[in-house]
Amino acid sequence: MSWEGPGFVDHHAHLLRMAAGRPPACADPSDPEAVAAYHRRVEERWSTPMDERERPLDVDDRLRGALERGLARAAELGLVEITEAGMHDWGYLEALLALRARGPLPVRVRLFVASGIAEPQRMQATGDPWLEVVGVKFYADGWLGPRTCAVREPFADRPGDTGVLFLDADTLARRADPFAERGWTIATHAIGDRAIETVLDAYELVFGGDCAAAAPRVEHAQVLASDLVRRMADLGVVACVQPTFGVADADAARVALGPDRAERAYRWDTLLDAGVRVVAGSDFPVAPLSPLAGLQCLLTGDHLDGRRAGAPTLALDRALAVMTDAGAGTVVLGDDPAGVAEDEVAGIEVEEARPAG
Ligand SMILES: [Zn+2]
Repeated sequence: MSWEGPGFVDHHAHLLRMAAGRPPACADPSDPEAVAAYHRRVEERWSTPMDERERPLDVDDRLRGALERGLARAAELGLVEITEAGMHDWGYLEALLALRARGPLPVRVRLFVASGIAEPQRMQATGDPWLEVVGVKFYADGWLGPRTCAVREPFADRPGDTGVLFLDADTLARRADPFAERGWTIATHAIGDRAIETVLDAYELVFGGDCAAAAPRVEHAQVLASDLVRRMADLGVVACVQPTFGVADADAARVALGPDRAERAYRWDTLLDAGVRVVAGSDFPVAPLSPLAGLQCLLTGDHLDGRRAGAPTLALDRALAVMTDAGAGTVVLGDDPAGVAEDEVAGIEVEEARPAG
């Protein structure tokens, strides 16, 4: 029996750059030493991963074809909309506009422009539901696995080491302000509690009492604390979380954070309980693009192959609420996710994804 429901949306992916054959510069995400070295190098030159120069794209048939195939793959997996979390070259928009001129795209596309190429004068909305520029992406700290996320207390296994903070609150506020002023959404990568606090400080400086209306985002929001959860709720800041990360990072989080902090990390339930708006994104290629794979991880707290991780979980209705958007389209599945065992959700067949045009 087919099941029809609100379409899956991926609010944070690096799909376009992967489709174009331009993987992120941090090298192999599964090699923490290499990622840590990259983050330290970038920090030393006062840059951030969203500000690094990249080789310009050639906008040609090859690129247009590759992007179209990447988007078609997303639709096959049940997505009706993807957000590129950091567009590093305006050539992507140019290629997508050309594809769009020929007809609907396989999925709706939203673009956060990387802070390194964003200029207030160059930012322009398309007004097109299929393809829209939504804002600017900044990058405040590193990642948990390589111990480069910025934490308030040193890592449990690295005395004295509190990670890497690429941007302080004043700098982030100063850089975000011209875009915020023109109504663009600001999204900032912040994984550690020190980085999340810094980003909230910056958002308070930029938006003051208008923060909830602007709905700026914290990407990842992994190492949480009750004061940060409260502040996000009070300010009206949106959390964009990754359904597979609690599972993928479960072992590393316990070692890096120690038991007390690990207990409060990846707790999307505490964000929802506090009234924070939570949306989800895969962070592909760091994690699988399949939303059903993400959904299964959120439900079970365990690895897709059944290995136990013991990560925090969400109930199905909450998980679907953060991963789908009826306004973006409809998905038709081979089975009702409520009607199969939690550890079989990733295997549900996608019959159709129908983006709302
Ligand atoms: Zn990302």
